[in-house]
Amino acid sequence: MAVINILSPHVADMIAAGEVVERPGSVVKELLENALDAGARNVTVELSGGGTTFIRVTDDGCGMAADDAGNCFLRHATSKLHDERGLEAIETMGFRGEALAAIAAVSRVELLTRRAGDGEGTYVSVTGGEIQDMRAAGCPKGTTFTVRDIFYNTPARLKFMKSDRAEGSWCVQQAARVALGRPDVSVRCVKDGKEEFFTPGDGRAESAMYAILGRAAALSMLPAEGENEGVTVSGFISSPAAGRGSRAMQFFFVNGRTIRSQSLQAALEQAYKNTLMVGRFPACALYVTLSPGAVDVNVHPTKNEVKFSSEKRVFDAVYYSALSALQGERGTLEMDLSRSTEKKLAPAGYGKLAGDKGDAGEQTAMDLRTPAPAYGAASVPAVHVPRPAGIRPRQSGPAFTPSKAYRPRPQPVQPGPAADPAPANTAQPRAEKPAPRTESVSEPAPLRLVGELLRTYIVAEQADRVLLIDKHAAHERMIFDRLKARDRQIMSQTLLTPQTWRPGPEALETLTTNGPLLEELGFALESYGDEDVIVRAVPDAMDPGQTVAALEEICEKLKTGAGDLARDSVLQTVACKAAIKAGWDTDRAELLALAEKVAAGEIRYCPHGRPVCVTLTKKELDRQFGRIK
Ligand code: ADP
Ligand code: MG
Repeated sequence: MAVINILSPHVADMIAAGEVVERPGSVVKELLENALDAGARNVTVELSGGGTTFIRVTDDGCGMAADDAGNCFLRHATSKLHDERGLEAIETMGFRGEALAAIAAVSRVELLTRRAGDGEGTYVSVTGGEIQDMRAAGCPKGTTFTVRDIFYNTPARLKFMKSDRAEGSWCVQQAARVALGRPDVSVRCVKDGKEEFFTPGDGRAESAMYAILGRAAALSMLPAEGENEGVTVSGFISSPAAGRGSRAMQFFFVNGRTIRSQSLQAALEQAYKNTLMVGRFPACALYVTLSPGAVDVNVHPTKNEVKFSSEKRVFDAVYYSALSALQGERGTLEMDLSRSTEKKLAPAGYGKLAGDKGDAGEQTAMDLRTPAPAYGAASVPAVHVPRPAGIRPRQSGPAFTPSKAYRPRPQPVQPGPAADPAPANTAQPRAEKPAPRTESVSEPAPLRLVGELLRTYIVAEQADRVLLIDKHAAHERMIFDRLKARDRQIMSQTLLTPQTWRPGPEALETLTTNGPLLEELGFALESYGDEDVIVRAVPDAMDPGQTVAALEEICEKLKTGAGDLARDSVLQTVACKAAIKAGWDTDRAELLALAEKVAAGEIRYCPHGRPVCVTLTKKELDRQFGRIK
């Protein structure tokens, strides 16, 4: 007896719906993307009951004719794709003709739509995929979709929904991602009657970022731009000191589409190597633009992933853009002693995105306005260090030498309302202007060593600013860079009295596996009996008194790392054990030498990513003492 049964279109729709509509947030994303495809300039997203109960998306786009308003809920009904050739270069957000069919299959939908030229519009209501009512209706130009009771007919899926709070903030996050991708469209998002964010739609990424991420996060971002073989990158990345506890604030867009990409994420993070603390992540809003033919968006029904015809080209473009932005950053942090002013300036409204615990995400709501502590909060408790708008990173560090194929774009503008309105919107073609050659080869202002505070911080003065430098962190970085220079042979020092050490079986195994690396880096180790090791030599920079402590730390790190990362982590330990320590007496000449390197921008972050220098300007001091307002 035949056992194969052809499923009814309704069941097929329900199955397909499961892929497209995972959660109410997916409905928000699909409806918002449809509005963008319809050429809307203004879109409003409203939701309540975590989105499960109610989602309404209203746009002022092209609207639909009456026939289309009935047909748009059919599966594979789309105005965006006509034949298979179209699949090769997709320029719209949608193209699969699945979203509305999927949404309608699992909820109650109402549609109200009118085209600009039509005298009247159309009203359609659909429940569980069946059209219930359709008639002419008066309405403004554009389209409104109202979606109620998502998953009312699929109780199995409903069971998986999280709390209204969690689903609601996921909806807002989805809307935020789409809105950030298109700074040229104004998006308002209202949850439970409260405005969550409102982007002005002025075409500037910084405006959208400010509206969505909040002031503090937006101001800690550095502009990043670059181009590599037809792949253009523009946008913003966080300064290393503003690393976050998760990747929730990494936003990547490809041709205006919000996507997730491990390779872009890796490219970004690679650029921060050795400047960001382990366990901290950069934030970004990076817009990648390339020919639609060079990217395949038809990878998954949710269209969240893409495939590039040349992964490497895109990887390099992102990596070098981020790297040159970081190289251009001065790396000293300006102290802002006035936290209260900061609070007053922060706009009310949206400041929360769901924290990212893996993208499918359980969320903990987190306030993006509160800058995440970039390093152990205990180390610099009272100092709040945003990068104020309008302060341009000075380019005094060693110049970045781009790879041959890579061409840096003109020096971009800083975020901030006073900045030149350079269009950050990827949708608009950008005029290639030559970079203004402003650098004059003037001597830097002389540096005066004032002294040392608490045997920990070097105090120096240069022009109208005071530099406070963490002497251990600065020295550690200096040694690390020296050790890391590949062409430099690491010198070894023979210990006057060889040290015997019993590392324990696990560490012994690690030492044996990494023998060649340790030898290359200046250690001479010999096994002694079954359990002991004799240490005969250590890297010359290192304090021999720290031999065992250093080796214990190194074994711990080598348990997990390999390759270049392992090498770096060993060097970090050596540098740390070689550097002068807080609490030690250090002579003035040494303090001055360090301060000079820091002032020249040669040393910016310690190898663990902590900043080495905080500056205090005369203006800030004058303000604190009431000399100026
Ligand atoms: P896709 O976006 O992949 O084409 P959808 O199911 O999302 O598929 O939408 C089906 C069609 O309905 C679209 O191709 C478009 O013609 C029409 N449509 C959907 N939303 C809107 C809207 N907000 N304004 C105008 N037309 C719309
Ligand atoms: Mg669509």
